[in-house]
Amino acid sequence: MDSTIAFVAFLTIKLFVVCSSTSVINIGAIFHNDNPEVEIAFRFAVKRVNMYSSEYQIEPYIRYISNFDNFATGQIVCELADKGIAAIFGPDSSNTNEIIQSIATNLEIPQFQVFWNPKLVQFSTEYGYDKRNLIFNLFPEPYMLAKAFATLLREMKWKKYAIVYENDEGLIRLQEIFKAHGPQDQPVIVKKLGFGTDHRPLLKEIKASSVFQIILDCDRDHILDILEQAKEVKLMEEYHSYILTSLDAHSIDLGRLKAVKSNITSMRLIDPNTTEIRMVARDWELGQPSHKNQHINIAPESIRTKAALIYDALNLFITVFTKLDMTQTMVVKSLSCGENEISDHGLRISAFIGIQTFLKGLMIGPLTGPIEFDNYGRRTSFNLQIVERTPQNLRVIGTWNSKTPNDLSFTKISVPVIQISKQTSHIKMYRVKSRLQEPYLMMRKPTTGIILTGNNVYEGYIKDLLDGVTEILNATYELSLVEDGYHGNYDPKKREWNGLIREILDRKADLAVCDLTITYERKKVVDFSMPFMTLGISILHSKARREPPALLSFMNPLSLDVWLYMGTAYLGISIIIFLVARLAPGDWENPHPCNQEPEQLQNVWGLKNCFWLTMGAIMNQGCDILPKGISTRMVTGLWWFFSLIITASYTANMAAFLTMERMGPTIESAEDLATQSKIRYGVMEKGATETFFKDSNVSLYMRMWAQMQQDVPSPFERSNAEGVKRVRASKGLYAFLMESTTLEFERNRHCDLKEVGRWLDIKGYGIAMPVNSIYRTEVSGAVLKMQELGKLHELKEKWWKGKCEKESLETESAARLGLSNVGGVFVVLVGGMITALSVALLEFLWNVKKTAVQHHLTLREAFIMEFNFAVNFKIREKVINKSTIAEAESNKQL
Ligand code: GLU
Repeated sequence: MDSTIAFVAFLTIKLFVVCSSTSVINIGAIFHNDNPEVEIAFRFAVKRVNMYSSEYQIEPYIRYISNFDNFATGQIVCELADKGIAAIFGPDSSNTNEIIQSIATNLEIPQFQVFWNPKLVQFSTEYGYDKRNLIFNLFPEPYMLAKAFATLLREMKWKKYAIVYENDEGLIRLQEIFKAHGPQDQPVIVKKLGFGTDHRPLLKEIKASSVFQIILDCDRDHILDILEQAKEVKLMEEYHSYILTSLDAHSIDLGRLKAVKSNITSMRLIDPNTTEIRMVARDWELGQPSHKNQHINIAPESIRTKAALIYDALNLFITVFTKLDMTQTMVVKSLSCGENEISDHGLRISAFIGIQTFLKGLMIGPLTGPIEFDNYGRRTSFNLQIVERTPQNLRVIGTWNSKTPNDLSFTKISVPVIQISKQTSHIKMYRVKSRLQEPYLMMRKPTTGIILTGNNVYEGYIKDLLDGVTEILNATYELSLVEDGYHGNYDPKKREWNGLIREILDRKADLAVCDLTITYERKKVVDFSMPFMTLGISILHSKARREPPALLSFMNPLSLDVWLYMGTAYLGISIIIFLVARLAPGDWENPHPCNQEPEQLQNVWGLKNCFWLTMGAIMNQGCDILPKGISTRMVTGLWWFFSLIITASYTANMAAFLTMERMGPTIESAEDLATQSKIRYGVMEKGATETFFKDSNVSLYMRMWAQMQQDVPSPFERSNAEGVKRVRASKGLYAFLMESTTLEFERNRHCDLKEVGRWLDIKGYGIAMPVNSIYRTEVSGAVLKMQELGKLHELKEKWWKGKCEKESLETESAARLGLSNVGGVFVVLVGGMITALSVALLEFLWNVKKTAVQHHLTLREAFIMEFNFAVNFKIREKVINKSTIAEAESNKQL
């Protein structure tokens, strides 16, 4: 409104001050035939100036040029120059512009361009700085525009995307995006649209490559056709997003596409909500000059960039011209191309434009924000709006400013179209992917009479977790298994993910749930819910095995040598005692102590007694007879001392042996593992644990990783279950680094396993979903709720229970000796018994023979007699007299 008042005031003052006749300003305009909007906007702008200005009347000379005929175009420019034009407006595209640009510069006629022109700087440089630049391009400077697209892409966090472009100029527009793409980033698919109108094969190719984000660089008029074909090949589904680089994308009516599910983002130079645009659009609509019987519908929201720019160009020109004309006389001469003439006014206009920012025009505007040019005539400062299309309308979600080209300021959070449609629907059905692993997810065992269908074919912690989450969210889910069975690992060579993460990236699932660790790498490409379990990397090792002790293991505490020396010493000492006792007078005793004068003395130390004495000593039992002589006592004392030491040593060593048996090779921590070479260790391949070691820069873990890589056979296992199997089979020579949760489960089931040391890190399992997934908040909320209700704990208890839970808590020190430990002693005892019985039998038979000889009996008689004595347990005394002999003889008669 202000501008209108200012404009009217200006005209009135002018009317009074300059009471001369209106001066006519000739201007030239060059258009291609195919852009009616720009021409209509130009005619409207001219009409507007003429309507309000009593001082100046603009006389436009509008010419049409062919797209390719440079010669004809040159002639047209010369013809216009001959008419005495003050400025040239157009053309509306780059075709044949160069000739216009050159002639205008040579004749020093200012030219106002409104198209994307990356070659302007080159042209201006070629003409040198001695000539002030006479070309002004109102279209945003290409380099800055490219920067804006790169910033938009970065802020939208697009990682894996496809670029579809129409012509090679598009690559210049996208150059900053290419520059920002690092070698570590995921590969980008770049495709050029072919000739013709059928782009379906190309779009199908993109669809097959599982890319969901697409940058489309093409002419505004082709966008709708391409999007329509994309929709046909199902490239406009709910997970697809588009960035359109055309600054006119906002003006397309997508109604033809019907219920667009994909997100479409673009940028625009025009803010249709400004008063200026609204007023101009209204006047424009009302006073639309008829152009070849065409009527262009001009709503503020659908004004095209070039149309607004040509209006701004004329506004700028007339404002500057008027201002200059107030202080100096502006003469516009007719010029001929053939003669070496130049204009009088050109450089003055150009100098004036060059020094200021055009904020307010003579007419309402500028419509495209403040206008400012650099030395090359490029418009380097401008603002862009970021607009997002929702099924209902366009929403401005942020702005970009050329003063801070690396930033975007978001005014609203981008809402995926899918969210809007989901919010309106009440049925939610998650597509969930998982993988089989005990106890997280297993196939349910079929029970007779019950047919399992749907999600019920599975059971396990994850199944229960999903049931709980979906119950809270009042939703349903469809569970299926990941194709390759992996959790999700990034292959830097192929530059792609596998496993569950891949399925999420390919949008084959809404959620991925299993023992899926939240890692930094994964977090960059997918989103995770709140963790539902906390864990750390730990070491699984087998408990030391108790090797079944050998039968004669009681001999182990002393070496064979010592046993042999001991046996020899036993024999030797027994004999020495025998000899010494014979010499020692103290051991010659009176057999009848009452007889003070004995005729004979008796020595009890026969060999038998000597052996008995030494045996009693070494067995810690003592003996019923003891030596009396000094020397014999000395020998015996020394033998006792020897026996004391030997027995104590034996006992002590026996205890040590029993403990040792339980130990075997042991480790207490990761440091222990790293500093030894006997026990090999490994991890599950392609999992978070492997990545932990691979990416760690802690020297201990780096060393362990290096060791694992060079070990042969490979210490890596395909799955945790195989790692556990290997630990159990390796007799303590292999340890498996795995996550504490799974470790706990395995340890509860296999009592020969144990966890060693502390956790190496702390992390959690989360539910993965696509980046910016609409489900993230609700799923996280449901997990949190389950945790608060104690449901997660209950589930853990339910699925982790195992038979060794208690045993593993018991201390290993409570080891009892089994029969196997003391078996040898029993064997010795039994052996001794049998030997004793055999000796007893031999003694018996020897005695039978003796009796037979002594009492003149036959061997049989003597045997029966002695046998009767032996088996008649009542008889305590053995008396051999006549009656027993007679009885034996009568037995003979029988
Ligand atoms: N939970 C791990 C992952 O998400 C797999 C097991 C492991 O690496 O120890 O990759």
